[in-house]
Amino acid sequence: MTIHFSCTQCGKCCHNLRLPLSLDEAADWIRRGGDIELFCEAIPWPVEPPQSDAQAAHKRRLSFAAMCGAVPIRVIVTVVAAFDGACPHLLHDGRCGAYGQRPRVCRIYPAEVNPFIHLTPASKACPPDAWTTDKPVFFANGQTLDSETSELISQSRAVAAQDAQLKERLCAYLDVHHMALANEGFAIHKRAPDVMLAALERLKHDRKQVAHGAAATWRFVSNRLSTVDTLVSIGADTAEVSSLPNALVSYIAFFPSDV
Ligand code: SF4
Ligand code: SF4
Repeated sequence: MTIHFSCTQCGKCCHNLRLPLSLDEAADWIRRGGDIELFCEAIPWPVEPPQSDAQAAHKRRLSFAAMCGAVPIRVIVTVVAAFDGACPHLLHDGRCGAYGQRPRVCRIYPAEVNPFIHLTPASKACPPDAWTTDKPVFFANGQTLDSETSELISQSRAVAAQDAQLKERLCAYLDVHHMALANEGFAIHKRAPDVMLAALERLKHDRKQVAHGAAATWRFVSNRLSTVDTLVSIGADTAEVSSLPNALVSYIAFFPSDV
């Protein structure tokens, strides 16, 4: 499939977002007055999949190993700038007020960072006139042709892999240890911006040190009784969402609740 594209500067992609950020970008986002959240999910990982399993290799790169009760898991923590309505950096004339410092994901849009998701115009906010065939070819033969965007995607994947291991320690600093079952929802952890920034700065300071005692006792939460029962039956520490301890953690469900 060949896709032509040129940005019309319409600003539609700057609304109602959950922007995934690197750890460095998250610290910068807070310093500019923003707020971030940690979206946590995990995959039971009882045995190591073969190296030839490309999907598993992708998930391994984005996650860290942990235990949940008796079950080995891989935890994926996505650091997110969440906002409803316009991005706090969007100016009235549609320009980005943080253009020089905008996150990588904004620079990459509308291309996809995940190698297993191919770009489809219908899934993007860009208007029809951004995709007309008089525009440069942006995507063909399964890859983005724009060299700057390709370079940013490579950088984004490399940084995400580096950050994945550091996020275990970030979660320990913030006493974050609840997660959803992957593809069923997210446990969302909030902290005051100054608390989050202090943890990110401490992480940067400690980056070169070997982690000691970072391992937390991870717990699945779910809004589905069948999931709770299944995870408990295999020895995973699991609770219903109603047991979440306080306002610092909430849950986004992809399926209706039955608990
Ligand atoms: S940082 Fe800039 S480019 Fe990114 S969503 Fe906000 S206004 Fe848009
Ligand atoms: S929605 Fe698409 S066309 Fe509009 S500003 Fe964003 S990237 Fe450009």
